[in-house]
Amino acid sequence: MSAQSKEQRCVSLSQLADLRLLREHAYIDGRWCSADNLQAIEVTNPFDGSFIGTVPNMGISETRTAIAAAKKALPTWAALLPQERANALKRWHDLLIENKEDLALLMTLEQGKPITESRGEIDYAASFIEFYAEEAKRMNVENITSHLPGRNMSVKREPIGVTAAVTPWNFPCAMITRKAAAALAAGCTMIVRPATETPFSATALAELAERAGIPAGVFNIITGDPTPVVGELCGNPIVRALSFTGSTEVGRLLLSQGAQTIKKMSMELGGHAPFILFDDVDVDEAVTHAINAKFATSGQDCLAANRIFVQSGIYDEFLDKYAKAIAELRVGNGIEEHVEIGPLMHDRAVGKCEEHVADARAKGARVLTGGKKMGGLFYAPTLLADVTSDMQIYREETFGPVAPVMAFEFEQDVINQANDSEYGLAAYLFTKDHDRANRVSNALEYGMVALNCVKITGAPIPFGGVKQSGLGREGSRHGLEEFTELKYVCAAFKQ
Ligand code: NAD
Repeated sequence: MSAQSKEQRCVSLSQLADLRLLREHAYIDGRWCSADNLQAIEVTNPFDGSFIGTVPNMGISETRTAIAAAKKALPTWAALLPQERANALKRWHDLLIENKEDLALLMTLEQGKPITESRGEIDYAASFIEFYAEEAKRMNVENITSHLPGRNMSVKREPIGVTAAVTPWNFPCAMITRKAAAALAAGCTMIVRPATETPFSATALAELAERAGIPAGVFNIITGDPTPVVGELCGNPIVRALSFTGSTEVGRLLLSQGAQTIKKMSMELGGHAPFILFDDVDVDEAVTHAINAKFATSGQDCLAANRIFVQSGIYDEFLDKYAKAIAELRVGNGIEEHVEIGPLMHDRAVGKCEEHVADARAKGARVLTGGKKMGGLFYAPTLLADVTSDMQIYREETFGPVAPVMAFEFEQDVINQANDSEYGLAAYLFTKDHDRANRVSNALEYGMVALNCVKITGAPIPFGGVKQSGLGREGSRHGLEEFTELKYVCAAFKQ
């Protein structure tokens, strides 16, 4: 810890009702591991740079220790009845809900997102634990009608074994529970390596897992630089499955690292969601939807509406109303109840907004509101009109509060433009025309389509993308497939 950091300890930490939820340790084999001889990683509040705490910068040898612990814990955990695993998971779920205020505060302090969004994320994170506690009891597969005489043929689902999760900073709790709840429910053990920026949401989850009685070695948190830790998780043959959420670029790298051990890899990667408004929609409602779809998590969301296509008949009216609504968004410290847009995660994120806006301006886009830094890690909520396909923002995720809008004339044109992307995570479509809604949603090359709505996520749905947005699904009964293997048993009997 630097002298300057010590002086600037984040004052809001004093609002935690349960100070033991701030764990400045990794959690391996049921033990809280401190930095000791290791370098410590400092974690700061993106709102003001104040110091929150440190976690140990672990490396390859500590990662191997965590893998060995998960391997040791596996047989006993896998052998429990699903109901017994479900009981532990339900206690974990209940503890998340009981400690929602503290968990939300920790999240806002290390991540910056508005406190109301953090509370929503804790509910969302807890819902995966509850869902999979139930779902584990129903991992039924099938009996097969035999094609051979004197055989009974059956298929069952078995836990894949030791698993790993590598998660991003934009949803520091939910991206962990979406993976861990499914893995643990299925009978797997897991090592989680949270994002460097947001380890305390992860260690608080481990503290609550311990209180819930989840046995040592079943759920482990390892902190440290990504290259050695994640490299070992990807390369170690004991780890049978790795689930990653993050950028497509890093996902590609991890896929290649996992190839050596033929690891089962699931990938929740970047998105570049088209948001399509046909001119039969109610423009005021569309503005509200476009605010929610673009500016949640201050624009740092894989589901963010990144290319807003508006049919020409309502283009000007939409721009006018959208610009006013964006200008009214309240920007500030996420722990203040009224704040709607918090700081971005780091300088790189602010730089990306600046770069995309400058490039779009130079190529003819109009800035109707925002378009500038606001000091610290804040970037003003921004509306860019007349965006075209040669602009950087048309191809790349901005991951910030910049909304790019463009006009279209015909249905087929907007389908072509919406699909003109390497990404295929989510798409939004608004129209009152039933036939058009069906035609367009069928034609969209996306894993998830939101038709006349914005909120589509939740534990019961299969979340995931096509093309370079990922592999596999999280949530729903399909989420168990990432952490299980099918076993076929063919039993002969005398006729
Ligand atoms: P990122 O890819 O930079 O980092 C994700 C994780 O990988 C972090 O834990 C990070 O520390 C680690 N990492 C980074 N570089 C690594 C390396 N060289 N080797 C091993 N590990 C490495 O992504 P981010 O900036 O944390 O998150 C934003 C991205 O995540 C966006 O692209 C967003 O769309 C995507 N995302 C996708 C989903 C989804 O469900 N599809 C959800 C949230 C975020």
